[in-house]
Amino acid sequence: MTESTYTITGETGDWEVVVGLEVHAQVTSNAKLFSGAATAFGAEPNTQVSLVDAAMPGMLPVPNRECIRQAVRTGMAIDAQINKWSRFDRKNYFYADLPQGYQISQLYHPIVGEGSLDISLDEKNPEGSVKTIGIERIHVEQDAGKLMHDQHPTRSYVDLNRSGVALMEIVSKPDMRSPQEAGAYLAKLRSILRYVGSCDGNMDQGSMRADVNVSVRKPGAEFGTRTETKNVNSVRFVMAVVEQEAKRQIEVLESGGRIVQETRLYDPDRNQTRSMRSKEDAQDYRYFPDPDLLPLELDDAFLEECRASLPELPDAKRKRYEAGGITPYQAAVLTAEVEAARWFDALLEAGAKPVAAANWTTSELFGALNRTGKSIEESPVSPAQAAELLALVADGTLSGTLAKQVFEIMLETGQGAGAIVEERGLKQTSDTGAIEAVIADVLAKNADKVAQYKGGKEALFGFFVGQTMKAMGGKANPQVVNELLRTALA
Ligand code: ADP
Ligand code: MG
Repeated sequence: MTESTYTITGETGDWEVVVGLEVHAQVTSNAKLFSGAATAFGAEPNTQVSLVDAAMPGMLPVPNRECIRQAVRTGMAIDAQINKWSRFDRKNYFYADLPQGYQISQLYHPIVGEGSLDISLDEKNPEGSVKTIGIERIHVEQDAGKLMHDQHPTRSYVDLNRSGVALMEIVSKPDMRSPQEAGAYLAKLRSILRYVGSCDGNMDQGSMRADVNVSVRKPGAEFGTRTETKNVNSVRFVMAVVEQEAKRQIEVLESGGRIVQETRLYDPDRNQTRSMRSKEDAQDYRYFPDPDLLPLELDDAFLEECRASLPELPDAKRKRYEAGGITPYQAAVLTAEVEAARWFDALLEAGAKPVAAANWTTSELFGALNRTGKSIEESPVSPAQAAELLALVADGTLSGTLAKQVFEIMLETGQGAGAIVEERGLKQTSDTGAIEAVIADVLAKNADKVAQYKGGKEALFGFFVGQTMKAMGGKANPQVVNELLRTALA
């Protein structure tokens, strides 16, 4: 574990920043936490609302097994304690987007206890720069509806589509010490959730949002009082909040003020946080066990099924790739997003050799996708087609240069590499007779350079290779060209 050395220097010396994140992640599920209503994003207002979600009198909540399952699988993915016995509590408050007058949550007995995840700030050396961030708990709770104030000059509307949607609240320990660590934590958590499939991670659609707790202290001192900036919806904004809020707190403290524990909001346009309300305590919400719901009891068979359904997670996958000879940087790039990792695994399964496959994927494929603004899921070349191309390079049919040409044609036409090679005669040649003839011609035409080369200007060798390759239309086997040139120039 490496300690970060991020500090902010104020008038009174260096300050350390302490950060803890509470992340709300919408559980991927077709139905809500306690009702059968749908959860699709972007539906017409109030079209996904059951009587339970609208809190009609007499309606009773029924826990959705799939939501519970996703929370348990997420807990397992962060190596957390899974609580076989947990319970729902009512968090009471009044707001127009909350028809029940309370949110069903889990305060006293969350479903998931302590766990952790590893972050790394050095992408060239992920393994050597790991820091473990503690996770306090994950509990499941209902989302509220949404108020819309911009539809009418004098009226506000409420959309209950989100009312009752299942959220996981994932609470970190105050273990982060810089904006970079907070950003890396959120990105890693998002990656894990997306591998697990328990949250789609679409931060711009509100599927994931973070409450950012920040305090400052002199190095080695006790933790300071924290503020909590609510509903921050991107990695970049989380980093900005940590930085701005730390600076603001330092200014307050150094000018003799004190930090009040409060809830703040972030304004991205001004890159500032501002006070929203003073922080409420648990007792303000009059939490009590929800009498409409039995405690949740998970049996071993359920837990086993949850565990068995977990995919290989990003760290394990990255290490497997590294063990196959792929560079740590490439392994990190290939495993950061689940879609890329799936695509790459399919390429390996189709028979491609790990190192060549990683080089090709991170340069040629990612380059092509970048140029065309496509995601890997929209890749015009399938893993099987890429494996065919790489096999032709591996068996010497194609040189690197030819492979690039063939790949371009694959992108344009959708044809397979083998078919392109056949049809266009793009095969690399190792025919020594043909290559020797071209070499003789190149050397004859460049007698002056040959003389310079023989006089000691060895760098000219590359020139002869280039000329020969060019004369052969890029189709000569570069290794054979090298050997024959050495002989011819000896
Ligand atoms: P609450 O539920 O009232 O917000 P918690 O004790 O659950 O309070 O803590 C919420 C979050 O605040 C956690 O993510 C925790 O890591 C973080 N946190 C606690 N103390 C500090 C602190 N002094 N500085 C920064 N973050 C903190
Ligand atoms: Mg909180």
